[in-house]
Amino acid sequence: MFDKIKLPYEYNELEPHIDAATIETHYGKHLQKYLDTLNGIVKEHEEFFKGKTLSHILSNIDEIPESIRQGVINHGGGVENHNLYFSILSPKAKMSPDGKFLEEINKTFGDLDKLKTQISEAAIGQFGSGYAFLVKDKSGNLLVRNTLNQNSPLSDGFIPLLTIDVWEHAYYLKYKNLRPDYVKNIWNVIDWEKVQGLYEHCDGK
Ligand code: MN
Repeated sequence: MFDKIKLPYEYNELEPHIDAATIETHYGKHLQKYLDTLNGIVKEHEEFFKGKTLSHILSNIDEIPESIRQGVINHGGGVENHNLYFSILSPKAKMSPDGKFLEEINKTFGDLDKLKTQISEAAIGQFGSGYAFLVKDKSGNLLVRNTLNQNSPLSDGFIPLLTIDVWEHAYYLKYKNLRPDYVKNIWNVIDWEKVQGLYEHCDGK
């Protein structure tokens, strides 16, 4: 059985950037539904899931039995992507990374603002439901990626570090059709300390 992260803040603590009703529905209903559906699949195929992490499974989707593969991509990705999304948000977000991570950002993108612009453009430009991600490859190189639906960058060999959920359920209650305003404001609650921790320690296993 898999689990969702414990939300490290109250529903209303990301206001005014993300409203309490959105977090409550998004975390309590949408993520819960992905989790329940995934665990329903696990119950029927315990042998396959035994001892495997979700990130390992999503990194090796060819190993998933064909009859449940798309379900695991959709609902397992739904759990993995949302766990990342909710974990990097914070009411006390650190506004910049530092050290080797910041050097790598500067080297790859020019500076932090240019990286944020690139991620924002990826998020705003994502047609339909999906995500924008900052990822690293196996050599530690940084890239900006989009994924459709609940596909995980892990399935393309990348380790996700930061994500912006641009499914309408992530912003519609407050922002309606104004996805660019949601994307602009979410930077106020994206915690670069968390993102940096993933860059430094996460190997995608
Ligand atoms: Mn979502």
